[in-house]
Amino acid sequence: MRSANRFNVIDLIIKKREKGALTDQEITDLIEGYTIGDIPDYQISAFLMASYLNGMTDAEMMALTEAMLNSGDVLDLSDINKKKVDKHSTGGVGDKSSLPLAAIVASCGVCVPMISGRGLGHTGGTLDKLESIPGFSSQMTLAGYHRQLAEIGVVMMGQTRQIAPADRKMYALRDVTGTVEFIPFIAASIMSKKLAEGIDALVLDVKFGSGAFMEAEADARKMAETFVRIGDRFDTRTVALLTDMDQPLGRKVGNWPEVAESIECLRGEGPEDVTEVISALSAEMLVMGGVAESLEEGAEQVQDSIGSGRAFELFKEIVTRQGGDARVIEDPELMELKARTMNVVAPEDAASTIARIDGRVVGRSMNVLGAQRMTKEDDVDPLAGVTLLVAQGDEIPEDRVIARLQASTDEHFEATEQLFSTAFEYSESASAPSSRIVDRYSNGSWMNP
Ligand code: URA
Repeated sequence: MRSANRFNVIDLIIKKREKGALTDQEITDLIEGYTIGDIPDYQISAFLMASYLNGMTDAEMMALTEAMLNSGDVLDLSDINKKKVDKHSTGGVGDKSSLPLAAIVASCGVCVPMISGRGLGHTGGTLDKLESIPGFSSQMTLAGYHRQLAEIGVVMMGQTRQIAPADRKMYALRDVTGTVEFIPFIAASIMSKKLAEGIDALVLDVKFGSGAFMEAEADARKMAETFVRIGDRFDTRTVALLTDMDQPLGRKVGNWPEVAESIECLRGEGPEDVTEVISALSAEMLVMGGVAESLEEGAEQVQDSIGSGRAFELFKEIVTRQGGDARVIEDPELMELKARTMNVVAPEDAASTIARIDGRVVGRSMNVLGAQRMTKEDDVDPLAGVTLLVAQGDEIPEDRVIARLQASTDEHFEATEQLFSTAFEYSESASAPSSRIVDRYSNGSWMNP
């Protein structure tokens, strides 16, 4: 922002403080000025907090999204003669669905330009999972990204400095000013990055429950509606599925363990709940990508790509192209052999059946084990994680072993077990959970799938 306008920043902050709505131009000036370093952190902090406390109109949120989107490169993939469709998940404990899904959808003829993030707090991130594969690199130039998309139709890489740089700066500031959990900021942050990828369509997996970023279903519904409204406004077809993340997704949590479970899914041997989520999201992408007429036909194509081994082969190709050692994808045991393990046993006085496994507690215990970060600077142990040997509704097995912890060292096993054990609730009887997919939002309405 030009220095002559410096006082305007104060005016804009005061306008927001007094519950006024900023114009598109005012928001654009703020974001541009912040991105190039003319407006300092402390003024944007004041804007963030005033917006958080007083709310934002839809028009302000759209202007914010557009300003963040235009703060960097907007990729042009128009030379690739396929529809480009991506998926974003709001994050959940054990949610590894992006890994198999990218290969499945691309193997069916839709281009998947996936740019993902790292895990923070109790939920994991796709990049940390992929980087647990020895040699795998999620850093790529935009030229390399474009080339790989043209050649094999799929990339899984990390954020680059050129994409939505305003979001990178602002997210770091939100993190330290108590302004992360605000739907207009979250939606603008996520959608600006996704729209910059050069996609035609987007499917969102919006999760709620103890193992998710947002616990309350009502908040997740609002979030889903907001994402779709932004997608519509930017002419990018967007569908959101609402999924239940009260308990961990699948049986494995942790970076390498989740890659191992993704391989099971690609071999058609994955747990029912992960398979259900992957199939539903992939089918949406195939319809939006124009290669399936209906969700049913999409689901059949998903089955076929797994059953024929095409998706598995493409996953290996992604790994190889991005520097990873595909031998561990062929034979995950090669990695497992390096891990120390410890069994977790149900207490003697526990009732006979698993009533619930609290997703958030499982996620937090993975932080203790070293599988996930608490701060951005933390290192992660790629092998660290857990295999759940029981699920809700199962009887405690005879040997009472309900889970197996694993890590590169056994240093944190005891502390992890203390917390991890509290995730389990027992009762004399409990039924298995029903479908993970609770609802679907598209074209302005909810429709139970
Ligand atoms: N992830 C993002 O990229 N942005 C947010 O604001 C929250 C989660």
